[in-house]
Amino acid sequence: MLELKNIKKSYDNKTILNDISLKIETGEIVSILGPSGSGKTTLLNVILGLTEISSGQIIFDGQDLSKVPMQNRGFNIVFQDYALFPNLNAYDNIIYGLRNKPGISTPEEVAELVNLLGLKEHLKKRIDQLSGGQKQRVALARTLVMKPKILLLDEPLSALDGVIKESIKERIQLIAKQYNLTTIIVTHDPEEALTLSDKVLIINEGKISQFDRPQVIVSQPQTQFVEKFILSQLRIKRDNIFRLFGNLPAAAAGAAR
Ligand code: ADP
Ligand code: MG
Repeated sequence: MLELKNIKKSYDNKTILNDISLKIETGEIVSILGPSGSGKTTLLNVILGLTEISSGQIIFDGQDLSKVPMQNRGFNIVFQDYALFPNLNAYDNIIYGLRNKPGISTPEEVAELVNLLGLKEHLKKRIDQLSGGQKQRVALARTLVMKPKILLLDEPLSALDGVIKESIKERIQLIAKQYNLTTIIVTHDPEEALTLSDKVLIINEGKISQFDRPQVIVSQPQTQFVEKFILSQLRIKRDNIFRLFGNLPAAAAGAAR
């Protein structure tokens, strides 16, 4: 279990994270949802250990990690831009981290991940021969072969569209459940957060607005911010479609008759 206690982070007297406290259970998928500049990436980097906190505590499985350097925490991140090595093919990217820590994943385990992520026929390709969705899956595989204790993802879906986005979402859910892997995902898209995760952490200007199951966020928004900026966004989207094209899709109306 991961627990954050009263986390604060400031840069030059400007408060970026303000008193963040929460608990995340092992195997949970948690989205960090908030507008641009609200502190999402900073919070992810604080958990990873890349960014030092100003005050507070990070506890993981009973151990205080607040002063433990990134490489000893055993967490791992997929950055927003994937950060793949362009001079290596997909397979060599995936197994790159195993050079320094051989044996963390067996060849069979690597093969299983490659299969789960649907990458089998792309392993020999150079990175510039892969689509955005394929690059994202290679980046995921590269991180997962290192068997992180927590998987951190910074806007993993924002560069993808439509069907590809849905398929990556499903794979993230599949992997989190299959490996009982705690997964923390940054997103600015309310629909994505609510459909992908077990719990959603909504932050605004570095403060927690609400941290609940999607069901609870939708039915019982706790703050003006959640109501006005998160839920209303979804309603406006829906209403725009229905205003343009009518209240019921023709197929659904037909089926209802
Ligand atoms: P988000 O990911 O939600 O868009 P960030 O966590 O990247 O937001 O940034 C939150 C705020 O912290 C922004 O105002 C940003 O300018 C500031 N910030 C982030 N990193 C630094 C840094 N290294 N030095 C100073 N300010 C920073
Ligand atoms: Mg960010």
